[in-house]
This record gives sequence, structure tokens and C-alpha cells, in this order.
Amino acid sequence: MQAELTIDLGAIRANWRALHRGAETGAVVKADAYGLGLAPVARALAEDGARSFFVAQVEEGVALREVLGPGPEIYVFSGLMAAGDAGFYRDNDLIPCLNSIEQVSDFASHLAEHTFALQLDTGMNRLGLEAADLAHLPTLGEPRLILSHLACADTPEHPQNATQLAAFHEMAPAGRRSLAATGGTLMGANYAFDLTRPGIGLYGGLPFAAAQPVVKLSLPVIQVRDVAVGESVGYGADWIAQRPSRIATLSAGYADGLFRALGAGLTLWSGDTPCPAVGRLSMDLITVDVTDLADAPATLDLLGPHQGIDAVAAAAGTIGYEVLTALGARYARRYVG
Ligand SMILES: *Cc1c(COP(=O)(O)O)cnc(C)c1O
Repeated sequence: MQAELTIDLGAIRANWRALHRGAETGAVVKADAYGLGLAPVARALAEDGARSFFVAQVEEGVALREVLGPGPEIYVFSGLMAAGDAGFYRDNDLIPCLNSIEQVSDFASHLAEHTFALQLDTGMNRLGLEAADLAHLPTLGEPRLILSHLACADTPEHPQNATQLAAFHEMAPAGRRSLAATGGTLMGANYAFDLTRPGIGLYGGLPFAAAQPVVKLSLPVIQVRDVAVGESVGYGADWIAQRPSRIATLSAGYADGLFRALGAGLTLWSGDTPCPAVGRLSMDLITVDVTDLADAPATLDLLGPHQGIDAVAAAAGTIGYEVLTALGARYARRYVG
């Protein structure tokens, strides 16, 4: 039996609405909507009125167009990476975010007349045209959107936010503009421009602290055994029972995106009762101390009301984004809301 991942589309919609800041609110659905399922997530947001979607790769854009049908705008962050991609952009009415002089030239040769966006680098040094490049662009029409991305928006007081904001105004004094992902959206009207691009906040993650939780992950118990004082559990015999213990073995492991680094720092929940994971987390199995439960549980929750993606991320030394996008293929996915 597979573990069950419940995805609350109603919570995603509510988070999208809660991020409205006067500007148009877009939706970032790259990486299979952060691992939660491109088609159901994009459909739910389109039903609620989202009209601008963002993906990372052109193939994701093709899949998204199939889901949404004609109408909504689909921007592709990586832009025109190869001349051979021009057909995908044309045939699926996708908007490339052009990132370099080379991409702009390729666009002019292979896609002239097609709608495009310009991505500017205002200080992150990852993707986008630099100020010096702008003087050397071939003549194009008006971009549908000019965008840039903040490096430090999860830390509102970081001075780089204001520096990048000023650079964006300087490089793009006019036009339809977008600077804010989730963090920037939360930093207020100065950062909102014409269109915001939240991703993680839709899916219940920080830095949107007020987000409704979106995912619940319940792991089925395969068996429960008694372990005597002095006996060990799991690979490496790392954990040794200090009291007569009942250990439940659950069906999920690092092959399902539950990082091995979580190890014994992980807590699972039986309703409102916390149960500590013990021993090493393995590929398909997690062992949990359920001695303090009155009855052997049928399932334990790893993600739920008591423990969200950011709590699990903290236990693994990572971020909620990675927890979500790592959620594996072996879960039975159930959509509610
Ligand atoms: C991923 C991404 C976003 C969304 O970021 P969140 O922090 O998830 O809101 C927005 N813009 C760009 C360019 C991105 O790569």
C-alpha cells in the first residue's frame, strides 16, 4: 500500500487570493507545480482567475498549454535556449523570457513578431540581460513583460532588496513590469509593479508565514514489533532501546523524497500525539517509536497540521521548496478542495 499525499487545492486558491496586492497576481507552476501536480493546480488557479503563469522550461510550457487551453499567458523563464525550441513557442503560444543578447538575436532570427518578455539581471547574477547589454539589443517590438528576480526577498531587511529595486527602475523605467516572487510580494506595493509571480506561497511555504497549509502526508504502518532493552533498530544498529519499546515500520523512505538527513530528528504524528522516528531512515522504510500510543496505528502523518513543510525542512537542514519538489512518485495523490 502506498503512502497518501493529500493536496488541498482550496488552500492553494486561498493562498493565491491572499497574495493579491493590487497588481495582477500570476502563478509560478514550474517543476510540476512544486511537485504537487501541474494539471490540477493550474486548472484550479485558472478557475479562480489566474491569467499569467510561469514555468522554467519550454517543455513545461507545452504541457501547461495543453492543460489550460488558449487564453492564459504562459511565460518560460529559461527563454529561447535553442533555435529548435522556436516551434514549441510558436505552436503553443508560449512567451520566452529572453535572458541574453544571444537569446534576443536568436529570437529576432527565428521568432520575430512573436510575443516575448525580457528578463533583466539586477544583481542576482543568475539569469537575465545586464544594463550594459541593453544598449546592444537588436531592434524588437515592445516586450509583453520586463521581469527581474530578487536574490534576498526572504530577508526583507537585506540591503540588496533596495539595491535591486533601484536597479530595476533604472534599467526598466517603463513598460509592463514584474519583480516580485513570494518574498517580494510580501514586501509591499513598491515591489509589486504590474504583475507578481508567487510560487512557494501558493503551496503553503515560507516566507509566506500566513499561508494555509496545502499538503498532508500519511504513511501506512506495515508492522509493529516489540523491541527489548538493549536491542537495536535499523541499519548500523544506531538506535538502541533504553526501555521495552514498540516500533512501527512505515512504508516510505528516502526514495520518496524523505531525506536521509532527517534521520532520527524526525517526528511523526498519530493524530495529536508526536512519535519520534528512531534509527536510520532507509530507502523504503521509516521506523518509529510508538510505545506511548495506546493502540497500534494504521498510519502516521509526516506532513499535516502539526508539522508543515518548513518544519520538516528545518529538521533536514533544507528549505520547504526542496521538501515539496522532492515528494516522490510512490504516493497515492488525493486532491481535495
Ligand atoms: C521560482 C521563481 C519564482 C517563484 O519564486 P517563489 O519564491 O517560489 O515565490 C519567481 N520568479 C522566478 C524568476 C523564479 O525562478
